[in-house]
Amino acid sequence: MTGNGLLFIVSGFSGAGKGTIMKELLRRYDNYALSVSATTRKPRPGEVHGKDYFFISREEFEKMIREDALIEYATYAGNYYGTPRKYVEEMMAAGKDVILEIEVQGAQKIKEKMPETERIFVTPPSAEELRRRLTDRGSETEEEIEKRLRRAVEEASYMPLYDFILVNDDLDRAVTELHGLVCTVHDRSVHRQDFNREIKKQLSDMMRGGN
Ligand code: 5GP
Repeated sequence: MTGNGLLFIVSGFSGAGKGTIMKELLRRYDNYALSVSATTRKPRPGEVHGKDYFFISREEFEKMIREDALIEYATYAGNYYGTPRKYVEEMMAAGKDVILEIEVQGAQKIKEKMPETERIFVTPPSAEELRRRLTDRGSETEEEIEKRLRRAVEEASYMPLYDFILVNDDLDRAVTELHGLVCTVHDRSVHRQDFNREIKKQLSDMMRGGN
């Protein structure tokens, strides 16, 4: 990796408003790259191939797994979801902070491979509000909503593993808070790398000088 781009994971209950937060973050600031995942789920109305997801078949997905073209993947509500490796590596090398909007199992896998990754969990202020948002979205059947709520119960047990809990009760505030967090983490990382480089140089100069 040549650039200073960092990797951030944003997870959260389905219906927590992650997608809306991400869209607003990208609209406001230009230092981000949002990874577009591959999935075997069918597109919702208005979703665009290559923008919201790469909508592919199970065969194509399984081929990507075999070819190691995914950094991580998981199944969610009966479908595959995965992060294509190429884009993430290219963007980080170009110095962009890359955000992966992924569920909890994928987040675990990334953390094992890349422990320095900062993880953020997005949640609505209450369970009742979560159900309301899922229902209001109108894109899932009653059965699908129940499936997602049951999944939320499991996901809640992963929350303590996250570095930061972002309560999404106000879009503007949530976006500002997330951007602030990314900036803090980014600056801390740059400072650590700069300082490390400098102290190593000083030490090697000192040793060469025989002091
Ligand atoms: P949805 O069907 O609502 O778009 O997404 C369902 C879940 O899959 C969400 O929690 C979303 O964050 C997660 N997801 C989306 N893309 C990926 C991915 O590439 N990998 C993993 N592990 N989860 C993903």
